[in-house]
Amino acid sequence: MKIAVLVKQVPDTNEIQVDKANGTLIREGIPTIINPDDLSAVEVALQMKETYGAFVHVFTMGPKNAVNMLKELYARGVDQTTLLTDRQFAGSDTWSTSLVLSTALKQDAFDLIIAGRQAIDGDTAQVGAQVAEFVDIPHVSYVDQIIDVKDKELFIRKQEETQFLKIKLPFPCLITVLDSIAQPRYMNMVHIFNQTETPIHILDNNALSIDPALLGIKGSPTRVKKTFTKEITKKQTPSTLDPYEAAERIVNLIYKKAKGAS
Ligand SMILES: Cc1cc2nc3c(=O)[nH]c(=O)nc-3n(C[C@H](O)[C@H](O)[C@H](O)COP(=O)(O)OP(=O)(O)OC[C@H]3O[C@@H](n4cnc5c(N)ncnc54)[C@H](O)[C@@H]3O)c2cc1C
Repeated sequence: MKIAVLVKQVPDTNEIQVDKANGTLIREGIPTIINPDDLSAVEVALQMKETYGAFVHVFTMGPKNAVNMLKELYARGVDQTTLLTDRQFAGSDTWSTSLVLSTALKQDAFDLIIAGRQAIDGDTAQVGAQVAEFVDIPHVSYVDQIIDVKDKELFIRKQEETQFLKIKLPFPCLITVLDSIAQPRYMNMVHIFNQTETPIHILDNNALSIDPALLGIKGSPTRVKKTFTKEITKKQTPSTLDPYEAAERIVNLIYKKAKGAS
């Protein structure tokens, strides 16, 4: 089985600040981490490799320094990594990002593509589904368990708000996973030594041949009208109530608000 995992390098949001002048995230000089959902995606791919036999190939689109993240993933046991990097990709929205990722993925035949549910910086949860649509394969989001792989089919559990769904998917397919699906393993000493020898494949747009008009800020259909940080306006005094009294107060507040709105 050939598994591709989509991994994004994200700024450590504990350190991030917003530029008050233009509302954008200040990314420069901020330490980066592997997006948490994506680390779990890598872990579940490695577990499938151990259980069913698989080749695990990680793809990331990002700046050149993402090679350090890919070295760390080799040290965790992945088989191959590809960095998609080009000045033309900078400023891409989720649609252009998904176009780049899917163009690279289409150069090979993967049985399964695994993405995280969402990235902690962009937070849209759009890329997984968009990649599946570009590659033209079925997809399921919010997967929290791989149940089995049998007869070229994948059996998974999807988490919904109040229920779980057990779903059967034919290969090839894409899933986006929650971080609860698997606890990422530590790096392995043998893999740490081996990773220095393992090449990272780097592809730019010469290799992908995507029309530059579809890339970067110009090629991105998303227009960000305004971003702002919610300011705390009024300090609330905490009250200690018994559960029934608290519930009654909440219901009254909702009722008053709804009445005010009608
Ligand atoms: C107009 C505009 C300009 C932007 N310019 C920039 C910019 O210059 N630099 C920048 O960093 N961001 C930029 N962004 C944000 C960027 O579009 C998103 O961060 C990116 O498309 C991923 O979306 P997301 O973070 O919401 O990911 P989600 O959709 O929440 O991610 C879901 C999953 O998709 C996969 N995934 C997402 N992104 C990647 C990736 N790059 N590589 C591999 N897998 C991935 C991961 O598995 C992830 O868990 C811009 C956005 C807009 C709207």
